[in-house]
Amino acid sequence: MKITEVKSYALRSPLDQPFAFSQGWVRQRSATLVEVVTDEGIVGWGEAFAQGLEPPEIARAVIESALQPLVIGADPLDTEVLWHRMYHQTRDYGRKGSVVAAISAIDIALWDIAGKVRGVPTYRLLGGAFRTRVQAYATGFYRIRGQGEASRLGEEAVRHYEAGLTAMKVKLGYGVDDDIAVMGEVTRALGERSVPLMVDTNHAYGVAEAIRLGRALEPYHLRWYEEPVVPEDIAGYREVRQALSIPIAGGENEHTLFGFRELLGQRAVDIAQPDIGSAGGFTACRHILALAQAHGVQVNPHVWGSAIAQAASLQLIAAIPVAHHSVFAAEPIFEYDRSAHPFRQHLVEHPIQHVNGWVEIPPGPGLGVTVDRSVIDRYRV
Ligand code: CA
Repeated sequence: MKITEVKSYALRSPLDQPFAFSQGWVRQRSATLVEVVTDEGIVGWGEAFAQGLEPPEIARAVIESALQPLVIGADPLDTEVLWHRMYHQTRDYGRKGSVVAAISAIDIALWDIAGKVRGVPTYRLLGGAFRTRVQAYATGFYRIRGQGEASRLGEEAVRHYEAGLTAMKVKLGYGVDDDIAVMGEVTRALGERSVPLMVDTNHAYGVAEAIRLGRALEPYHLRWYEEPVVPEDIAGYREVRQALSIPIAGGENEHTLFGFRELLGQRAVDIAQPDIGSAGGFTACRHILALAQAHGVQVNPHVWGSAIAQAASLQLIAAIPVAHHSVFAAEPIFEYDRSAHPFRQHLVEHPIQHVNGWVEIPPGPGLGVTVDRSVIDRYRV
């Protein structure tokens, strides 16, 4: 079996209502998709993580110019071999960011092919399913104006709860005092409802402000506090972690075994959050899982992509062992983005949807999704 073609697609759709996270205004949703074609008629799909401010053309250019020549003619089942080939050949200008996101997209497509060849979901090739469904948590609470939106966000929390999403992550990082007001209003609005809460500042603060915010939020018994400081500041992560009783999470902006070695080896996080479309695909996430296991750190993947990234993330989640075994061990939960995404739901025949707050891991071959090409044509850049 040989790879005959690598097609890449940059998709984009403007948003009717732009929204903000702490790093900027998101005015469009975008995706970089890849389709790996083989001489036996089986195709695999992958996706590179496109952060809200990131042009999807960057990863597409890496795929077209740098990676495609490295994999054409190769056996798609040589996943580990091809990962190392792509990583080594891009090392001097890659290692992180969109280059590794592009490697991730191809690697995901290869694991999709591997599952389809054998007629099994990809998680079977990763060693089997520790779980066949996963609890979803709502990622939302984006801003429309920026500050002073606490009462609207309190109402949003109740809406997520009433939709069945009884765990939620609140976007913060718009000024510590505004953040504290938001969390006060969210918890007041939720009242007696039992809701695990997480917060995410998207590295908006330095260590002192990150700790001030964390101390103010300690009474809420958060499940985690995500990206308190910039990903480069490992020492800062450690300081925040040592100062607070809240579990610290991070890793969506970290890449490969080598990046996670620093985060884990220096005991910077309680929860590692590789994004399969950014960290290096299934192959790199397997490396990261082993490393995290050795360091006693939970892995809870990040995902913010289209239906292909969601499906890949679900296959990975099925295969993640718990870090701290017990009869009531903390299981990974699935990031269920509630922000607008014009083509996410339409891209595949059976979109990922929660039922009473739980998502079934697709049981079909490979990633378990069938892509609707007409949607790609409609949103293609
Ligand atoms: Ca995040």
